[in-house]
Amino acid sequence: MGNTTGFLDISRQERTYKPVADRVKHYDEFVIALTDEEVSQQGARCMDCGIPYCHNGCPINNIIPDWNDLVYQQDFRAALEVLHSTNNFPEFTGRICPAPCEAACTLNLNEEPVTIKSIECAIVDKGWEQGWIEPEVAIHRTGKRVAIVGSGPAGLACAQQLARAGHEVIVYEKHDRIGGLLCYGIPNFKFDKSLITRRQAQMQAEGVVFRPNSHIGVDIPAQQLLDKYDAVVLTGGSEKPRDLPVPGRESKGVHFAMDFLTQQTKRVLGDIVDGISATDKHVVVIGGGDTGSDCIGTSKRQGAASITQLEIMPKPPEKEDKGMTWPNWPLKLRTSSSQEEGCERDWSVSTKSIEADENGNIKKINLVRLDAKMQEIAGSEFELKADLMLLAMGFVHPVQEGMLNELGLDLDPRSNVKADTNNYQTSIEKVFAAGDMRRGQSLVVWAIREGRQAARAVDEYLMGHSELPR
Ligand SMILES: Cc1cc2nc3c(=O)[nH]c(=O)nc-3n(C[C@H](O)[C@H](O)[C@H](O)COP(=O)(O)OP(=O)(O)OC[C@H]3O[C@@H](n4cnc5c(N)ncnc54)[C@H](O)[C@@H]3O)c2cc1C
Ligand code: SF4
Repeated sequence: MGNTTGFLDISRQERTYKPVADRVKHYDEFVIALTDEEVSQQGARCMDCGIPYCHNGCPINNIIPDWNDLVYQQDFRAALEVLHSTNNFPEFTGRICPAPCEAACTLNLNEEPVTIKSIECAIVDKGWEQGWIEPEVAIHRTGKRVAIVGSGPAGLACAQQLARAGHEVIVYEKHDRIGGLLCYGIPNFKFDKSLITRRQAQMQAEGVVFRPNSHIGVDIPAQQLLDKYDAVVLTGGSEKPRDLPVPGRESKGVHFAMDFLTQQTKRVLGDIVDGISATDKHVVVIGGGDTGSDCIGTSKRQGAASITQLEIMPKPPEKEDKGMTWPNWPLKLRTSSSQEEGCERDWSVSTKSIEADENGNIKKINLVRLDAKMQEIAGSEFELKADLMLLAMGFVHPVQEGMLNELGLDLDPRSNVKADTNNYQTSIEKVFAAGDMRRGQSLVVWAIREGRQAARAVDEYLMGHSELPR
């Protein structure tokens, strides 16, 4: 801690966004980064706490106080080394992590946490800009072969760690592109896809082989992987969307959020995709989370006539009670950059039915308000005009049809693949599971953690010991 009074003398300064009127005209990222000098100043605010709650609040236990001090000293290169020691892909989390570290920061007690996420992103973006990030090719090869199914953040982190430990790693992905939800879930304006291809190139240079368009359990039997590989890691995500079984659900114009978001990403990436469009439509998004926000930002860019987001849960408080919640993640009202771009939001609302016109196209939604006990309030029924309804109510568990049914793995009570967080082993000895496929729908940072830890477990299983970090 070089600057002992930084937290008193310097105010929190966050990255800013380009103006709404400008950014909704395109699908590019719109965050304005801090300058090196500003990043260094923000690093100076860190108190190097005796108990660094930030470090514990971070699922991958980033060594935050150390890199805060290093950026204060203007040593971005050393900061990058510390950052990479716990996180394979800081440019991913530096963009789209909700930053539980900042909620846990001691300075959050008076609403001025260190801008940890902005500092993280600045360090790694500088690393790429300066050419400091290079392939780390293993010196010794083990001769062991590992198959990874799914190329989301869990699969990528696992693959990179195992390749660096000297194993031959092949990543199978059912989509035509690598990245999982980083690619086809999170929109380009929040996460540019070149971030994935750049890491993909690094990993290929480290020896990882990617096999896109390979659907295990459909195109390729899962048994084939068991026969050919020394270990198999399942990182297939939690892809079964929660449905809305109300009368009229079958109406044209009612879609799962992922179908809508995937198509738009494909359009931005240059694939010609007709299909679902929000242009000139009254859009109703069901679900108040990240996915719902991404539907709002995408609808806005497509030129929707109106956008309304409905949430079944009550409106959270504007501010948390710090004494009760800190250093844990608080439930409070948050406004995403997409919500800021313009939409109506409503809470404690439940969908009763969907009505269609004579051609079967959705025309309105019938709704009812709920009380604090989630019971319908008599007489509170109302309706909303809708031409497009997007269901963004989360994911219930991994898809069972295909690979999981073929393997016949044990599942946990929530129908995720059963494996603990010590050895990540499933009910079949050489098959491991990590990320959303094991823990249920979660966050990118948790997927990276599980991918890294599963890699160590696989390395131990194959070699009897491991030097990979957990
Ligand atoms: C729209 C949306 C927005 C989100 N926004 C954020 C955010 O801002 N911040 C955040 O932290 N988290 C966010 N999340 C959550 C986050 O994306 C996930 O928690 C994370 O991607 C999970 O990583 P994963 O590697 O476990 O699985 P995924 O990213 O789901 O990757 C799984 C991959 O496995 C492939 N696959 C599945 N089965 C097979 C098979 N049988 N054969 C071959 N391939 C297969 C899939 O095609 C997919 O590519 C968001 C999620 C969604 C849906
Ligand atoms: S909790 Fe905040 S102030 Fe304390 S070490 Fe972590 S980042 Fe620095």
